[in-house]
Amino acid sequence: MIIVMERGATREQVDDIVARVRELGLGAHLSEGEERTIVGVVGSPLPPTLDEQLEIHAGVEQVVRITKKYKLSGWDFRPQKTQIRVRDVVIGGDEVTIIAGPCSVESEEQTVETARAVKAAGARMLRGGAYKPRTSPYEFRGLGRRGLEILALAREETGLPVITEVMTPADIAEVHAYTDVFQVGARNAQNYLLLEEIGKAGKPVMLKRGLSMQLEEWLLAAEYVMSQGNPDVILCERGIRTFEPATRNTLDVSAVPVIQGMSHLPVFVDPSHAAGKRALVPSLALAGIAAGADGLMIEVHPSPDHALSDGAQSLTFAEFAALTPRIAAVAQAVGRSLPVVDAVVSV
Ligand code: PEP
Ligand code: MN
Repeated sequence: MIIVMERGATREQVDDIVARVRELGLGAHLSEGEERTIVGVVGSPLPPTLDEQLEIHAGVEQVVRITKKYKLSGWDFRPQKTQIRVRDVVIGGDEVTIIAGPCSVESEEQTVETARAVKAAGARMLRGGAYKPRTSPYEFRGLGRRGLEILALAREETGLPVITEVMTPADIAEVHAYTDVFQVGARNAQNYLLLEEIGKAGKPVMLKRGLSMQLEEWLLAAEYVMSQGNPDVILCERGIRTFEPATRNTLDVSAVPVIQGMSHLPVFVDPSHAAGKRALVPSLALAGIAAGADGLMIEVHPSPDHALSDGAQSLTFAEFAALTPRIAAVAQAVGRSLPVVDAVVSV
């Protein structure tokens, strides 16, 4: 249910309605727009006469029952696109944002060198896994705490904010101490207890799409984070499992405009995990931006053939540097921009 406050409703009127909702044992989430405030009410079951009870409150214009299962992530609740600030980077605005870096943090040298290279080529954030979900338990599973320390060091060296995966509630506090954005991987996208705990941790979250997740299920997973009081969720399409083995996963390009029609949350595309092969990454990256994605997350490694994970899909520094001006061109064609690269290109 959403409560639409009148234009010009006072702070006290909004506070009163929030208090009333909470008194009833329900959750209240505020969306404060330039024109008016909307209060999202969550909890079940909603009392049958709740609409009438709330409609008579001062400052309330309208109470609307929402039949959609996703409430906080849907347009009904928030009529403007969500923008998320991560240090000096704004995600979800006119500019597209490129996040790049190695699949796994392997060493200080590898990570700092990559951070410098991707920054010079136009990336605004650094990625790198310290806790890695691997399909086989016998593969490299990340450096853990040391990996987090290295990411923080690379941030200090380059100024790039960092994103890294958290796999279990037990690691949230530790990862929180180092990262700017939590990544929830495809395999954990429906780990609801993890999502709830991250929702309480108070930092932006990138939620990858699960390997076989429908779009509504994806938004419902985002609701687990948002219903804990954290509105800063970025969705990331990284390819889904289909019957086609030519690519590692099938990039669902249509998911970008479709989910943008359903939700105000920023949407990224990860062409690397979709492609599985470096030669395909540029095409999928450009397709993602052409489809309207707010950004890309791309794996880059100083020496992909020696990478401890996902080398086959990682770009070299030169390949990444050759790709970003093309991303800028496509961004411009669809009414967006990639300013860092525009600047580099026009010099
Ligand atoms: C990753 O980003 O390295 C990763 C493991 O991604 P996904 O969860 O999408 O497989
Ligand atoms: Mn990877």
